[in-house]
Amino acid sequence: MNALLKKAKSSPRALNREELTSLLLCTEPEELFRAAYEVKLRTIGKRVSLRGLIEMGNLCSKDCLYCGIRKSNCNTARFQLDEDSVIRMAKWAYDARYGSIAIQSGEIESEAHTALIERILLRIRDFSGGKLGVTLSLGEQTEEVYRRWREAGAHRYLLRIEESNPHLYAKLHPAGHDYARRSACLDLLRKLDYQVGSGVMIGLPGQTETDLANNILFFAEKDLDMIGMGPWLPHPETPMGKDFADTLDFRQKQLDLGLRMIAVTRLYLHNVNIAATTALQTLAPDGRERGLLAGANVIMPNVTDTQYRANYQLYTGKPSLDENSDETRQKLQASIRAIGEEIIWDQRGDSPRYFQRKEQL
Ligand code: SAH
Ligand code: SF4
Repeated sequence: MNALLKKAKSSPRALNREELTSLLLCTEPEELFRAAYEVKLRTIGKRVSLRGLIEMGNLCSKDCLYCGIRKSNCNTARFQLDEDSVIRMAKWAYDARYGSIAIQSGEIESEAHTALIERILLRIRDFSGGKLGVTLSLGEQTEEVYRRWREAGAHRYLLRIEESNPHLYAKLHPAGHDYARRSACLDLLRKLDYQVGSGVMIGLPGQTETDLANNILFFAEKDLDMIGMGPWLPHPETPMGKDFADTLDFRQKQLDLGLRMIAVTRLYLHNVNIAATTALQTLAPDGRERGLLAGANVIMPNVTDTQYRANYQLYTGKPSLDENSDETRQKLQASIRAIGEEIIWDQRGDSPRYFQRKEQL
Protein backbone atom coordinates (compact mmCIF):
# COMPACT_ATOMS: atom_id res chain seq x y z
CA MET A 1 0.00 0.00 0.00
CA ASN A 2 2.77 2.45 0.85
CA ALA A 3 4.46 1.90 -2.50
CA LEU A 4 1.15 2.47 -4.28
CA LEU A 5 0.46 5.67 -2.39
CA LYS A 6 3.97 6.91 -3.10
CA LYS A 7 3.54 6.25 -6.80
CA ALA A 8 0.12 7.95 -6.85
CA LYS A 9 1.44 11.01 -5.02
CA SER A 10 4.42 11.44 -7.31
CA SER A 11 2.47 12.11 -10.52
CA PRO A 12 -1.11 12.20 -11.79
CA ARG A 13 -2.60 9.25 -13.64
CA ALA A 14 0.10 6.94 -12.34
CA LEU A 15 -2.09 3.96 -11.42
CA ASN A 16 -3.83 1.27 -13.45
CA ARG A 17 -7.35 -0.08 -12.91
CA GLU A 18 -6.27 -2.84 -10.53
CA GLU A 19 -4.22 -0.42 -8.46
CA LEU A 20 -7.14 2.02 -8.25
CA THR A 21 -9.38 -0.85 -7.13
CA SER A 22 -6.96 -2.00 -4.46
CA LEU A 23 -6.73 1.53 -3.05
CA LEU A 24 -10.54 1.74 -2.97
CA LEU A 25 -10.60 -1.50 -0.99
CA CYS A 26 -7.58 -0.80 1.20
CA THR A 27 -7.61 -1.84 4.84
CA GLU A 28 -6.10 1.41 6.12
CA PRO A 29 -8.35 4.17 4.82
CA GLU A 30 -6.83 6.77 7.16
CA GLU A 31 -3.53 6.43 5.33
CA LEU A 32 -5.31 6.75 2.02
CA PHE A 33 -7.04 9.94 3.18
CA ARG A 34 -3.77 11.37 4.48
CA ALA A 35 -2.02 10.76 1.16
CA ALA A 36 -4.87 12.36 -0.80
CA TYR A 37 -4.88 15.35 1.55
CA GLU A 38 -1.15 15.77 0.96
CA VAL A 39 -1.78 15.98 -2.79
CA LYS A 40 -4.61 18.43 -2.18
CA LEU A 41 -2.30 20.63 -0.09
CA ARG A 42 0.36 20.56 -2.78
CA THR A 43 -1.97 21.32 -5.70
CA ILE A 44 -4.62 23.55 -4.10
CA GLY A 45 -3.33 24.58 -0.67
CA LYS A 46 -5.21 24.74 2.62
CA ARG A 47 -8.06 26.40 0.80
CA VAL A 48 -11.76 25.72 0.39
CA SER A 49 -13.86 27.33 -2.34
CA LEU A 50 -17.56 27.94 -1.91
CA ARG A 51 -20.42 27.83 -4.40
CA GLY A 52 -23.69 29.21 -3.11
CA LEU A 53 -26.22 26.64 -4.28
CA ILE A 54 -29.53 27.91 -5.66
CA GLU A 55 -32.05 25.10 -6.09
CA MET A 56 -34.09 26.84 -8.72
CA GLY A 57 -36.90 24.40 -9.29
CA ASN A 58 -37.97 20.79 -9.14
CA LEU A 59 -39.87 20.53 -12.41
CA CYS A 60 -38.22 17.77 -14.39
CA SER A 61 -38.95 16.04 -17.68
CA LYS A 62 -36.94 13.00 -16.64
CA ASP A 63 -37.70 9.98 -14.55
CA CYS A 64 -34.36 8.78 -13.19
CA LEU A 65 -35.13 5.77 -11.01
CA TYR A 66 -33.20 7.06 -7.98
CA CYS A 67 -34.28 10.69 -7.81
CA GLY A 68 -36.90 12.17 -5.48
CA ILE A 69 -37.97 14.87 -7.94
CA ARG A 70 -38.41 12.50 -10.92
CA LYS A 71 -41.48 13.37 -12.91
CA SER A 72 -43.51 10.35 -11.74
CA ASN A 73 -43.27 11.33 -8.09
CA CYS A 74 -46.67 12.90 -7.43
CA ASN A 75 -45.96 13.34 -3.73
CA THR A 76 -43.85 16.42 -4.08
CA ALA A 77 -45.19 19.92 -4.66
CA ARG A 78 -43.59 21.41 -7.74
CA PHE A 79 -42.02 24.86 -7.69
CA GLN A 80 -39.97 27.11 -9.89
CA LEU A 81 -38.26 30.27 -8.63
CA ASP A 82 -38.88 33.42 -10.61
CA GLU A 83 -36.16 35.61 -12.05
CA ASP A 84 -36.13 38.18 -9.26
CA SER A 85 -35.90 35.53 -6.54
CA VAL A 86 -32.89 33.89 -8.18
CA ILE A 87 -31.20 37.28 -8.53
CA ARG A 88 -31.92 38.07 -4.88
CA MET A 89 -30.29 34.79 -3.80
CA ALA A 90 -27.34 35.33 -6.15
CA LYS A 91 -26.85 38.80 -4.67
CA TRP A 92 -27.00 37.36 -1.18
CA ALA A 93 -24.19 34.93 -2.09
CA TYR A 94 -22.19 37.74 -3.69
CA ASP A 95 -22.57 39.97 -0.62
CA ALA A 96 -21.72 37.02 1.62
CA ARG A 97 -18.43 36.92 -0.38
CA TYR A 98 -18.95 33.37 -1.66
CA GLY A 99 -17.29 34.28 -4.97
CA SER A 100 -19.36 31.76 -6.91
CA ILE A 101 -22.83 30.32 -7.21
CA ALA A 102 -24.28 27.16 -8.71
CA ILE A 103 -27.78 27.14 -10.18
CA GLN A 104 -29.38 23.71 -10.24
CA SER A 105 -32.79 22.35 -11.19
CA GLY A 106 -34.61 19.50 -12.85
CA GLU A 107 -34.15 19.13 -16.57
CA ILE A 108 -36.31 21.40 -18.71
CA GLU A 109 -35.79 21.86 -22.43
CA SER A 110 -37.84 24.80 -23.68
CA GLU A 111 -37.22 28.18 -25.19
CA ALA A 112 -38.96 29.91 -22.27
CA HIS A 113 -36.65 28.22 -19.78
CA THR A 114 -33.53 28.82 -21.88
CA ALA A 115 -34.38 32.51 -22.15
CA LEU A 116 -35.13 32.77 -18.42
CA ILE A 117 -31.70 31.37 -17.53
CA GLU A 118 -30.11 33.65 -20.10
CA ARG A 119 -31.72 36.73 -18.54
CA ILE A 120 -30.66 35.64 -15.07
CA LEU A 121 -27.06 35.16 -16.24
CA LEU A 122 -26.97 38.59 -17.86
CA ARG A 123 -28.30 40.25 -14.71
CA ILE A 124 -25.73 38.44 -12.57
CA ARG A 125 -22.94 39.59 -14.85
CA ASP A 126 -24.34 43.07 -14.65
CA PHE A 127 -24.64 43.43 -10.87
CA SER A 128 -21.33 41.72 -10.09
CA GLY A 129 -19.32 43.27 -12.92
CA GLY A 130 -18.60 39.72 -14.09
CA LYS A 131 -16.93 38.87 -10.78
CA LEU A 132 -19.38 36.30 -9.44
CA GLY A 133 -18.57 32.85 -10.81
CA VAL A 134 -21.55 30.89 -12.15
CA THR A 135 -21.86 27.13 -12.43
CA LEU A 136 -24.96 25.72 -14.09
CA SER A 137 -26.35 22.27 -13.40
CA LEU A 138 -29.44 22.11 -15.58
CA GLY A 139 -29.05 18.77 -17.27
CA GLU A 140 -28.78 17.77 -20.90
CA GLN A 141 -29.34 20.52 -23.46
CA THR A 142 -28.52 21.17 -27.10
CA GLU A 143 -25.28 22.78 -28.22
CA GLU A 144 -27.15 25.96 -29.06
CA VAL A 145 -28.58 26.27 -25.54
CA TYR A 146 -25.21 25.62 -23.92
CA ARG A 147 -23.70 28.24 -26.23
CA ARG A 148 -26.29 30.88 -25.32
CA TRP A 149 -25.74 30.32 -21.60
CA ARG A 150 -21.96 30.42 -22.02
CA GLU A 151 -22.20 33.69 -23.90
CA ALA A 152 -24.48 35.12 -21.21
CA GLY A 153 -21.83 34.47 -18.56
CA ALA A 154 -21.95 30.90 -17.26
CA HIS A 155 -18.45 29.48 -17.23
CA ARG A 156 -18.78 26.18 -15.42
CA TYR A 157 -21.23 23.34 -15.93
CA LEU A 158 -21.89 20.31 -13.79
CA LEU A 159 -23.44 17.28 -15.44
CA ARG A 160 -22.90 14.01 -13.65
CA ILE A 161 -22.59 10.96 -15.83
CA GLU A 162 -24.10 9.19 -12.78
CA GLU A 163 -22.35 5.90 -13.66
CA SER A 164 -19.99 5.40 -16.59
CA ASN A 165 -20.79 1.72 -17.15
CA PRO A 166 -23.51 2.00 -19.84
CA HIS A 167 -25.12 -1.32 -18.75
CA LEU A 168 -25.48 -0.14 -15.18
CA TYR A 169 -26.57 3.32 -16.40
CA ALA A 170 -29.39 1.61 -18.29
CA LYS A 171 -30.56 -0.07 -15.08
CA LEU A 172 -30.74 3.27 -13.26
CA HIS A 173 -32.82 4.97 -15.90
CA PRO A 174 -35.99 4.22 -17.85
CA ALA A 175 -36.01 4.01 -21.63
CA GLY A 176 -35.26 7.24 -23.44
CA HIS A 177 -32.58 8.29 -20.97
CA ASP A 178 -29.63 7.95 -23.28
CA TYR A 179 -26.13 7.39 -21.92
CA ALA A 180 -24.57 8.37 -25.23
CA ARG A 181 -26.31 11.75 -25.24
CA ARG A 182 -25.24 12.50 -21.69
CA SER A 183 -21.65 11.64 -22.47
CA ALA A 184 -21.79 13.69 -25.70
CA CYS A 185 -23.11 16.67 -23.69
CA LEU A 186 -19.86 16.64 -21.68
CA ASP A 187 -17.92 16.88 -24.95
CA LEU A 188 -20.09 19.77 -26.14
CA LEU A 189 -19.48 21.63 -22.89
CA ARG A 190 -15.73 21.19 -23.33
CA LYS A 191 -15.93 22.40 -26.92
CA LEU A 192 -17.74 25.54 -25.74
CA ASP A 193 -14.96 26.23 -23.25
CA TYR A 194 -16.87 25.64 -20.04
CA GLN A 195 -14.98 24.32 -17.05
CA VAL A 196 -16.56 20.89 -17.16
CA GLY A 197 -17.66 19.01 -14.08
CA SER A 198 -19.09 15.55 -13.80
CA GLY A 199 -19.27 12.72 -11.35
CA VAL A 200 -21.13 9.65 -10.26
CA MET A 201 -23.27 8.29 -7.50
CA ILE A 202 -21.30 6.01 -5.22
CA GLY A 203 -22.47 2.74 -3.70
CA LEU A 204 -25.30 2.12 -6.16
CA PRO A 205 -26.96 -1.30 -6.12
CA GLY A 206 -25.05 -3.48 -8.57
CA GLN A 207 -22.02 -1.16 -8.73
CA THR A 208 -18.74 -3.00 -8.16
CA GLU A 209 -15.32 -1.71 -7.07
CA THR A 210 -14.19 -2.19 -10.66
CA ASP A 211 -17.05 0.05 -11.80
CA LEU A 212 -15.88 2.67 -9.33
CA ALA A 213 -12.28 2.42 -10.57
CA ASN A 214 -13.58 2.69 -14.14
CA ASN A 215 -15.50 5.81 -13.13
CA ILE A 216 -12.23 7.42 -12.04
CA LEU A 217 -10.66 6.40 -15.36
CA PHE A 218 -13.69 7.98 -17.09
CA PHE A 219 -13.02 11.28 -15.26
CA ALA A 220 -9.48 11.17 -16.65
CA GLU A 221 -10.57 10.22 -20.15
CA LYS A 222 -12.94 13.21 -20.27
CA ASP A 223 -10.18 15.31 -18.68
CA LEU A 224 -12.69 16.85 -16.29
CA ASP A 225 -11.96 20.10 -14.47
CA MET A 226 -14.19 19.36 -11.52
CA ILE A 227 -15.69 16.33 -9.89
CA GLY A 228 -18.97 16.37 -7.99
CA MET A 229 -19.90 12.97 -6.65
CA GLY A 230 -21.57 11.57 -3.61
CA PRO A 231 -23.08 8.43 -2.13
CA TRP A 232 -26.41 7.22 -3.49
CA LEU A 233 -29.12 7.68 -0.86
CA PRO A 234 -32.36 5.69 -1.18
CA HIS A 235 -35.45 7.87 -1.53
CA PRO A 236 -38.64 6.02 -0.53
CA GLU A 237 -40.71 7.62 -3.29
CA THR A 238 -38.52 6.18 -6.04
CA PRO A 239 -38.38 2.73 -7.66
CA MET A 240 -34.83 2.18 -6.40
CA GLY A 241 -35.44 3.38 -2.87
CA LYS A 242 -38.93 2.20 -2.06
CA ASP A 243 -38.18 -1.25 -0.63
CA PHE A 244 -34.63 -0.59 0.33
CA ALA A 245 -33.56 -1.35 3.90
CA ASP A 246 -31.80 1.85 4.88
CA THR A 247 -29.83 0.71 7.93
CA LEU A 248 -27.19 2.44 10.02
CA ASP A 249 -24.69 -0.06 8.73
CA PHE A 250 -25.58 0.78 5.12
CA ARG A 251 -25.18 4.50 5.84
CA GLN A 252 -21.76 4.01 7.37
CA LYS A 253 -20.65 2.00 4.35
CA GLN A 254 -21.91 4.70 1.96
CA LEU A 255 -20.04 7.40 3.84
CA ASP A 256 -16.85 5.35 3.92
CA LEU A 257 -17.07 4.57 0.21
CA GLY A 258 -17.81 8.22 -0.62
CA LEU A 259 -14.68 9.33 1.24
CA ARG A 260 -12.57 6.64 -0.39
CA MET A 261 -13.73 7.73 -3.85
CA ILE A 262 -12.78 11.34 -3.12
CA ALA A 263 -9.34 10.27 -1.93
CA VAL A 264 -8.56 7.94 -4.83
CA THR A 265 -9.84 10.52 -7.33
CA ARG A 266 -7.57 13.18 -5.82
CA LEU A 267 -4.65 10.77 -5.93
CA TYR A 268 -5.31 9.99 -9.57
CA LEU A 269 -6.15 13.43 -10.99
CA HIS A 270 -4.22 15.74 -8.60
CA ASN A 271 -5.22 19.30 -9.58
CA VAL A 272 -8.97 19.17 -10.29
CA ASN A 273 -11.67 20.73 -8.11
CA ILE A 274 -13.47 18.10 -6.04
CA ALA A 275 -16.67 18.86 -4.12
CA ALA A 276 -17.48 17.53 -0.67
CA THR A 277 -21.18 17.15 -1.38
CA THR A 278 -24.28 17.49 0.76
CA ALA A 279 -24.91 13.74 0.47
CA LEU A 280 -21.87 13.24 2.74
CA GLN A 281 -23.33 15.68 5.26
CA THR A 282 -26.59 13.76 5.14
CA LEU A 283 -24.76 10.63 6.27
CA ALA A 284 -22.82 12.35 9.06
CA PRO A 285 -22.95 15.87 10.46
CA ASP A 286 -19.22 16.28 9.78
CA GLY A 287 -19.36 14.40 6.46
CA ARG A 288 -18.30 17.34 4.32
CA GLU A 289 -15.39 18.25 6.60
CA ARG A 290 -14.25 14.66 6.42
CA GLY A 291 -14.54 14.96 2.64
CA LEU A 292 -12.20 17.95 2.74
CA LEU A 293 -9.70 15.97 4.80
CA ALA A 294 -9.91 13.13 2.26
CA GLY A 295 -8.93 15.48 -0.58
CA ALA A 296 -11.96 17.59 -1.58
CA ASN A 297 -11.67 21.38 -1.86
CA VAL A 298 -15.14 22.71 -2.72
CA ILE A 299 -18.31 23.06 -0.65
CA MET A 300 -21.70 24.12 -1.95
CA PRO A 301 -23.67 25.73 0.88
CA ASN A 302 -27.35 26.14 0.15
CA VAL A 303 -28.47 29.74 -0.37
CA THR A 304 -32.03 28.93 -1.42
CA ASP A 305 -34.82 30.35 0.77
CA THR A 306 -35.73 27.75 3.38
CA GLN A 307 -39.39 27.72 2.31
CA TYR A 308 -38.47 25.93 -0.95
CA ARG A 309 -35.97 23.44 0.38
CA ALA A 310 -38.40 20.75 1.51
CA ASN A 311 -39.53 20.32 -2.09
CA TYR A 312 -36.04 19.89 -3.49
CA GLN A 313 -35.32 16.51 -2.00
CA LEU A 314 -33.36 14.50 -4.52
CA TYR A 315 -32.88 12.17 -1.56
CA THR A 316 -34.38 12.29 1.92
CA GLY A 317 -32.73 13.36 5.17
CA LYS A 318 -31.10 16.43 3.63
CA PRO A 319 -29.63 18.52 6.44
CA SER A 320 -30.20 22.24 7.06
CA LEU A 321 -33.73 22.27 5.66
CA ASP A 322 -34.79 24.88 8.17
CA GLU A 323 -31.46 26.60 8.72
CA ASN A 324 -31.27 29.93 6.92
CA SER A 325 -28.36 30.95 4.74
CA ASP A 326 -26.81 33.23 7.39
CA GLU A 327 -26.73 30.41 9.93
CA THR A 328 -25.27 28.02 7.37
CA ARG A 329 -22.51 30.52 6.58
CA GLN A 330 -21.55 30.99 10.22
CA LYS A 331 -21.50 27.30 11.01
CA LEU A 332 -19.50 26.48 7.93
CA GLN A 333 -16.92 29.09 8.68
CA ALA A 334 -16.43 27.67 12.16
CA SER A 335 -16.32 24.04 11.09
CA ILE A 336 -13.81 24.71 8.31
CA ARG A 337 -11.59 26.69 10.63
CA ALA A 338 -11.80 23.84 13.14
CA ILE A 339 -10.13 21.45 10.69
CA GLY A 340 -7.38 23.97 9.94
CA GLU A 341 -8.60 24.92 6.47
CA GLU A 342 -9.44 28.35 5.19
CA ILE A 343 -12.29 29.57 3.02
CA ILE A 344 -11.21 31.69 0.08
CA TRP A 345 -13.65 34.58 -0.06
CA ASP A 346 -14.58 36.68 -3.07
CA GLN A 347 -12.86 34.39 -5.55
CA ARG A 348 -14.33 32.19 -8.22
CA GLY A 349 -12.18 29.24 -7.18
CA ASP A 350 -11.57 28.02 -10.71
CA SER A 351 -10.10 24.62 -11.42
CA PRO A 352 -6.29 24.63 -11.74
CA ARG A 353 -6.61 21.78 -14.23
CA TYR A 354 -8.58 24.01 -16.62
CA PHE A 355 -5.75 26.54 -16.88
CA GLN A 356 -3.09 23.85 -17.06
CA ARG A 357 -4.87 22.25 -20.04
CA LYS A 358 -5.07 25.60 -21.81
CA GLU A 359 -1.34 26.13 -21.33
CA GLN A 360 -0.63 22.70 -22.75
CA LEU A 361 -2.65 23.34 -25.92
N1 SAH B 1 -31.38 17.59 -13.25
C1 SAH B 1 -29.98 17.85 -13.26
C2 SAH B 1 -29.48 18.43 -11.97
C3 SAH B 1 -30.23 18.12 -10.71
S1 SAH B 1 -30.04 16.48 -10.12
C4 SAH B 1 -29.23 16.59 -13.58
O1 SAH B 1 -29.76 15.50 -13.36
O2 SAH B 1 -28.10 16.71 -14.04
C5 SAH B 1 -28.44 16.58 -9.39
C6 SAH B 1 -27.82 15.28 -9.00
O3 SAH B 1 -28.50 14.73 -7.88
C7 SAH B 1 -27.88 14.18 -10.01
O4 SAH B 1 -26.85 14.32 -10.95
C8 SAH B 1 -27.73 12.93 -9.15
O5 SAH B 1 -26.40 12.44 -9.18
C9 SAH B 1 -28.06 13.41 -7.74
N2 SAH B 1 -29.09 12.56 -7.13
C10 SAH B 1 -30.35 12.40 -7.52
N3 SAH B 1 -30.98 11.49 -6.75
C11 SAH B 1 -30.07 11.06 -5.84
C12 SAH B 1 -30.11 10.11 -4.77
N4 SAH B 1 -31.20 9.41 -4.49
N5 SAH B 1 -28.97 9.94 -4.04
C13 SAH B 1 -27.87 10.65 -4.31
N6 SAH B 1 -27.78 11.54 -5.31
C14 SAH B 1 -28.86 11.75 -6.07
FE1 SF4 C 1 -34.47 15.07 -13.09
FE2 SF4 C 1 -31.85 15.36 -12.50
FE3 SF4 C 1 -33.57 14.05 -10.85
FE4 SF4 C 1 -32.92 12.91 -13.17
S1 SF4 C 1 -31.49 13.38 -11.46
S2 SF4 C 1 -35.00 13.04 -12.32
S3 SF4 C 1 -32.74 14.69 -14.49
S4 SF4 C 1 -33.59 16.20 -11.38
